[in-house]
Amino acid sequence: MGLLSFRLLIIFFLSVIIARAPLGDAWGKEGHIMACKIAEPYLTEKTLKAVEDLLPEVAAGELSTMCPWADQVRFRYRWASPLHYINTPEVCNYKYSRDCHNSKGEQGMCVAGAINNYTNQLYSYGDPSNQYNLTESLMFLAHFVGDIHQPLHVGFEDDEGGNTIVVHWYRRKTNLHHVWDSSMIQTAMRDYYNNDLDTMVEGIKLNITSGWPDDVETWQSCGNKRATCANDYAEESIQLACDYAYKDAEQGSTLGDDYFFTRLPIVKKRIAQAGLRLASILNRIFDSGNNKEIQSY
Ligand SMILES: [Zn+2]
Repeated sequence: MGLLSFRLLIIFFLSVIIARAPLGDAWGKEGHIMACKIAEPYLTEKTLKAVEDLLPEVAAGELSTMCPWADQVRFRYRWASPLHYINTPEVCNYKYSRDCHNSKGEQGMCVAGAINNYTNQLYSYGDPSNQYNLTESLMFLAHFVGDIHQPLHVGFEDDEGGNTIVVHWYRRKTNLHHVWDSSMIQTAMRDYYNNDLDTMVEGIKLNITSGWPDDVETWQSCGNKRATCANDYAEESIQLACDYAYKDAEQGSTLGDDYFFTRLPIVKKRIAQAGLRLASILNRIFDSGNNKEIQSY
């Protein structure tokens, strides 16, 4: 075998390993797809047109297919790693000026900053002088609105949002962050939704119209003129992290039915909120604030 083909073989194996490496740092793929599927029916016609125009061809016009993308490019876009989360100094509140930065201290390099930044970039859609890759801006935005709603994406710096807290999810060894990213969603899909993502999405949609109807109106309201309300979403997440995620989950804990039954409603609600708020943000950008009514389902 020539040196070149040997090198190619090594590169091939490395890429297989990288492609199969677990992505421990975001709502799992399912959570992101679900949030975006919930957003889709709330997009106005004008917004949908812009979104379809910006999506890459492989998406076939469906936003949800591209929502896990930002995790898939984590190895290529290392600079974007801190944009998936926020760390607080072991306190149950969030402050933009204190917490929204990367490890070098650069301000705005956190998930709340990223949501505002990509929203801002997308406002230049249709402007021929714009310098941004708006396809990527859209895919980042759709992903990060999901991430900021995962309570442990706004967690303590010390345990990396639960990543260093080793627990058992029923019998399986994992970490607390992963329980919130994936395990609870996967267990719920298996136990209640026939292992089918769309069935779980339908279940969450039903809650939007009949389970939480009073709350739902307030989820979408955002008084900020142009920036999003990402700071509010981060504040909600750190509080949920303290009240539900970290509570009763210590190093070495076994988490089972008690934890699952009391936390699953939070997971579903956060996915619903992420979806509705993503739709509002996109409608504000592409259809100047024209929001579809909740009842339109
Ligand atoms: Zn992420």
